[in-house]
Amino acid sequence: MVKAVVGANWGDEGKGKITDMLGKESDIIVRFQGGANAGHTIVNDYGKFALHTLPSGVFYDHTTSIIGNGVALDIPKLFGEIQSIVEKGVPAPKILVSDRAQIVMSYHKLFDAYEEERLAGKSFGSTKSGIAPFYSDKYAKIGFQVSELFDDDLLKEKVVRIAEQKNVLLEHLYHKPLLNPDDLYNELMEYKKMVEPYVCNVSLFLHNAIKEGKNILLEGQLGSLKDPDHGIYPMVTSSSTLAAYGAIGAGIPPYEIKQIITVCKAYSSAVGAGAFVSEIFGDEADELRKRGGDGGEFGATTGRPRRMGWFDCVASKYGCRMQGATDVAFTVLDVLGYLEEIPVCVGYEINGEVTTEFPVTHLLEKAKPVYKVLPGWKEDIRGIKKYEDLPENCRKYIEFIEEQIGYPITMVSNGPGRDDIIYRNK
Ligand code: GDP
Repeated sequence: MVKAVVGANWGDEGKGKITDMLGKESDIIVRFQGGANAGHTIVNDYGKFALHTLPSGVFYDHTTSIIGNGVALDIPKLFGEIQSIVEKGVPAPKILVSDRAQIVMSYHKLFDAYEEERLAGKSFGSTKSGIAPFYSDKYAKIGFQVSELFDDDLLKEKVVRIAEQKNVLLEHLYHKPLLNPDDLYNELMEYKKMVEPYVCNVSLFLHNAIKEGKNILLEGQLGSLKDPDHGIYPMVTSSSTLAAYGAIGAGIPPYEIKQIITVCKAYSSAVGAGAFVSEIFGDEADELRKRGGDGGEFGATTGRPRRMGWFDCVASKYGCRMQGATDVAFTVLDVLGYLEEIPVCVGYEINGEVTTEFPVTHLLEKAKPVYKVLPGWKEDIRGIKKYEDLPENCRKYIEFIEEQIGYPITMVSNGPGRDDIIYRNK
């Protein structure tokens, strides 16, 4: 049985915690897209970890963690992360890396930084992990696939060709030092040494695992609104964040994905530039940011303060629809316990008309939030295990949002730990 855990919003919904929790019943956890540009924060018995590359399953000794072909594979980061968790006492994880994954090169990171510098104030707010240049090269067919590390003749020819092409931009657009083919070759040889023990024909491995009835979890990064096709283009990421892409980025048939657990946070947060209709500012935002998540809403990778906002039913309904949510996991609800009243964005006013359908970007930029204010519950709900035991106003908040988004909230997360979860039978 294959399940996916994906985000309904802008990322940082708490997918790491849900994946970690579901990892208990999983044999295999697969990352299928994205790179080291986002992070999951996971709190468990070993401590608190920010993972950027490793799947969240690495903390269980019964799971195999897979880096699928759809991932932007940052080999030194991956190995740094393996080392860092082993140092904290986690048993060495079983890891497989797809022979069809492509490699983030050091020049991808340089190009990312140079482009941000060139765009200055008009930049996209990239984390400079090389993700956009990496995926551009993949689709321009000038990327390095893991399998190519084992074809020396090909590599020797290719490094010359790549350096020639990249150097045109480095010299004339960015005015930066040029690439040397020998350095590229040496870099690739370093990566080969690191990755060799883990390389695997992942789609075949998963094909056999599905036949054997194994439980497989696909772990998404970021959320629907960062999808390059269906998100807030161009303020999006460079690989698809949708569960449907899990089939491609892992190499399995789409009909095998039976459950799509779409994670929705009880309020909104976003990083980087782009329209954010229910955004709040000033003291109100500072307070929510400070109390948010587990120790504040600051980027797991960059430490940047996240932009904060009230729950957005329009964006979340759309986010769930694009994921094809079979279940919604509603997270970080405990954080809202301090509020007397909680505004919820129920519509967008665009050119004088109110809509509940998420618009394309140029209209999104004109959208003004329409709020409904719900009463708060003014109580700490951490530790509650049964839905009926939640305060009435808290249940009303959940049920109101469920009705607005139109997808079943089957899990409510009321704390950062693995066991802070309330299941609802729907
Ligand atoms: P991801 O990228 O979607 O995994 O999201 P993050 O790693 O940014 O997770 C958001 C933060 O919220 C992390 O610090 C989690 O530990 C924390 N978190 C997850 N679920 C809950 C919850 O239900 N309550 C609280 N208070 N924190 C949570």
